[in-house]
Amino acid sequence: MDILILLGAPGSGKGTLAARLVEKVANFSTVSTGELLRVAVKEGTPAGLKAKPIMEQGGLVSDELIAEMIGDYLAQAPKTGVLALDGFPRTVRQADMLEEILKANDAKLLKAVQLDVPEAVIMERLGGRRVCPKCNAGYHVTGLPPKQEGICDQCGTELTIRKDDNPETIAKRLSVYAEQTAPLIDYYQSRNALVCVPAGGQVDQTVAFICQNVLA
Ligand code: AMP
Repeated sequence: MDILILLGAPGSGKGTLAARLVEKVANFSTVSTGELLRVAVKEGTPAGLKAKPIMEQGGLVSDELIAEMIGDYLAQAPKTGVLALDGFPRTVRQADMLEEILKANDAKLLKAVQLDVPEAVIMERLGGRRVCPKCNAGYHVTGLPPKQEGICDQCGTELTIRKDDNPETIAKRLSVYAEQTAPLIDYYQSRNALVCVPAGGQVDQTVAFICQNVLA
């Protein structure tokens, strides 16, 4: 299993990009720690109960909790193909923990992809983001609208706005990113594992760039 880390601020389009790569690239899968946590919160598991208030405030849940989730996920994931990590690691400590998890699962880091998106585009993307609470498909009111306004193309469910996509929590998530996650750019650069990808345009352009420069 080769691991592709998707590194980018909230709203940089990690989830949208990962979903499109899964559609377009053979043997490609993805896992989002944010999504694993949202499911845990919905199900009311012990991890979910711990994570809920932290997520609602835009903070980061503990490195241990997240590393255990990803470790469990990798242990049962297919041993071949490429797996994109969406939202993990988010701290230098998590990146160190990931190295151990990869060793334990006979997996290797392919690249860390830094999604380079202008701040104005990030704010626009976060402000217009809509999600399907049932099947998780992601939309944007102008950039990636559903066929019928407010309704999921895939399962017909009414779309919602993520609880943490309000202006106050968005500001907090962006500052947490700058303080705790952005240092990972240097971390992976110093390991010769970083690829900077222009990702402020259409998702298909970003997919094409990654296919040519990372997966080829
Ligand atoms: P996301 O869907 O990636 O924007 O994640 C939503 C929220 O889940 C984040 O704001 C954090 O509270 C939490 N979260 C997701 N991934 C991590 C992680 N790797 N470390 C800590 N908290 C995380």
